[in-house]
Amino acid sequence: MIVYNEIMFKLDSKLSEVPRIGKRYAPILEKLGLITIEDLLKHFPFRYEDYSERTLISDLSAGETVTVMGEVSQSKLVRTWKKKMMITECHISDETGTVRAVWFNQPYVSDSLTKGKGVRLSGKVAKDLKGLFFSNPAWELSSREPTNTGRLVPVYPETEGVSSRFIRWQLQTLIKHADEMEDSIPENILKGLHLPNLSQAIKLIHFPKTIRDCELAQKRFAFQQMYLVQIASQRVKIAWDKQNAVTIAFNENFIKKFVSSLPFSLTDAQRKAAFQIFKDLEKPMPMNRLLNGDVGSGKTVVAAMASLATANEGFQVAILAPTEVLARQHLESLTKLFSNQDISIGLLTNSYQMVVQESRIKNQESHNSKFMIHDSKNLSVSKNSQKKELIEKLQQGAINVIIGTHAIIQESVKFKNLALVIVDEQHRFGVAQRAFLQQGIEKINDGLPGKIPHLLSMTATPIPRTLTLAFFGNLNLSVLNEMPKNRKIIITEMVGASSRQKTYDFVRDEIKSGRQAFIIFPLVEESKVLTELKAATEEHQKLSEKVFPDLKLGLLHGKLKSTEKEIVMEDFKNKKYDILVATSVVEVGIDIPNASVIIIEDADRFGLSQLHQFRGRVGRGEHQSYCFLFTSSGTSKAKERLRAMVKYSSGFDIAEEDFKLRGPGEFFGTRQSGIPDEAMRHITNVKLIEIASDYAEQTLADSPTLSKHPLLQKELEKFQQDIHLE
Ligand code: ADP
Ligand code: MG
Repeated sequence: MIVYNEIMFKLDSKLSEVPRIGKRYAPILEKLGLITIEDLLKHFPFRYEDYSERTLISDLSAGETVTVMGEVSQSKLVRTWKKKMMITECHISDETGTVRAVWFNQPYVSDSLTKGKGVRLSGKVAKDLKGLFFSNPAWELSSREPTNTGRLVPVYPETEGVSSRFIRWQLQTLIKHADEMEDSIPENILKGLHLPNLSQAIKLIHFPKTIRDCELAQKRFAFQQMYLVQIASQRVKIAWDKQNAVTIAFNENFIKKFVSSLPFSLTDAQRKAAFQIFKDLEKPMPMNRLLNGDVGSGKTVVAAMASLATANEGFQVAILAPTEVLARQHLESLTKLFSNQDISIGLLTNSYQMVVQESRIKNQESHNSKFMIHDSKNLSVSKNSQKKELIEKLQQGAINVIIGTHAIIQESVKFKNLALVIVDEQHRFGVAQRAFLQQGIEKINDGLPGKIPHLLSMTATPIPRTLTLAFFGNLNLSVLNEMPKNRKIIITEMVGASSRQKTYDFVRDEIKSGRQAFIIFPLVEESKVLTELKAATEEHQKLSEKVFPDLKLGLLHGKLKSTEKEIVMEDFKNKKYDILVATSVVEVGIDIPNASVIIIEDADRFGLSQLHQFRGRVGRGEHQSYCFLFTSSGTSKAKERLRAMVKYSSGFDIAEEDFKLRGPGEFFGTRQSGIPDEAMRHITNVKLIEIASDYAEQTLADSPTLSKHPLLQKELEKFQQDIHLE
């Protein structure tokens, strides 16, 4: 055995320099993102196998995962000629009996497990004609410290070429470097909470003696994450609150007049949210508010009221949507809502630029001359000259409300006096765009030096309360928890194979009476560029030829260009199609009030929140609407999800259910939130979040720039690269 001087290694030494890892395993570990010793120490197990209890051989029964201890009473290496396989077969005996253990193609096992050796085996007990046996169990000579057996054995995320066993083996010698780790959490906080410090926690995570050890270490890391999130979010808030914004006076009479001109009366929730927003706008510091309302709860009109108030005071508004389709739809809704106002509205996306209603101010006769929304032939016209003109108008302030995609926040766009930014479906924006929005909003070019715009974010993803607290602590929240009164509950049913035809007949009847329908189908996992197109086309063809040969079916899929999608949606809206067959691209915000039926194929393949978003495509008009969940899958979890859809109509109830069924990690999407799993497990722990929030406040009060906590500062920088707080 090569003996090497481990003193020369430090926490930041490359794994490739560690002899037992070397050039052979380092590249594989690198694939897991592990480059230094520190990385490996921070490579956490995702679960533990409990081998700490020893089972007597006489007590074994098939199917159980256990550890036995005994002596090798027989050992042989057999070669099977037929299959050319090497089989090591041992008999292990303790004071109560003997059991067989076999290893395939691991001839070296028989070199170590010779007769008379003491051994520990861990694994699942199997049974064949000759009786009970272990197949490829983890094993260890009992003279060694237990690492792979006989304890709580950590199981690591693996990749081909490095097993959990390998990682455990490396950690045996490398774990001592945990002592070199410095803790970013102030010591007094950990002491106050009775939590282990970083090096202790790292050791407990990899070498726990009891489940309690694991839990304690996990709790520490959870706290660490929550504390970081809280510090980050409180700092954003502190910095945000220090900024200046223009004050937009609340002109009550003017707004009242607008509200009374609406074809409906506002819900109490809409009223309340709008009022909260007006109050924010009156302040000389920028608003940072999240408007959280279920699909169809009427967020747009609330946004419109805020926009109107702002524009009426002579300032500009930017409304950002995640897709061109949605941006167009907002243009249309706002144009309608503002048809009696002196407001010029522009649309700026990568494909279109247009200005509507501008003429009203400048030139009464040619009012609406550029209003081309209902003219689908013009939709594909994208003129660069128009873009230039529009950008000029923005800079001059000739456009009051600009609607668009992230093209709006490109650097070339300058405003005269942008005072309000509204971000719709903000969760759909990419992380980079969101980061730009929040942190770079100051950089938006306009003629209001020293002031930043008020920010209103809107989302239709109902966020469970605990998550709001954990992730959006820096935001003010308005919730639309009430649906417009005229809304009928969407009748939702699960449909098995036998009732398909009946459902199709029902859809045909609805269409005969003037309605329209959506048919949504999922794409198989492996669908890549070409196959999505193929799958979508085939589905469309099958439905048009076999099921609804008498009806007109449109097709919407993700491979269409934005302008093409636009045309399909526009045509559907204008009733050129009876049925729109669509992949999940139809998910966000599309408003077709005449559509009253939605069929979701293979509904069990979608998550609850997504199903809810789909369902929200119907029930947007005065017609009774229906949602049919087609399913053939029998798994009970999938059924449970679908039953929740049938039972609940409120997105908030569904979100809570989803949260329960899937757990916080999946619900929020670890990748999206940047919060590691171990912290996620504790995220419903409101107490812990509150404690973290209190400590974060204390820390920042004591050292606003964190100059007293350089490690924390560094950690935070790293953390903020991964996660972005709204
Ligand atoms: P979302 O919150 O999903 O964005 P929208 O703002 O698109 O919802 O509103 C959905 C539909 O409900 C629109 O057609 C809108 O005109 C209508 N609506 C909004 N508020 C009310 C209300 N208070 N009463 C009746 N209908 C309303
Ligand atoms: Mg909307």
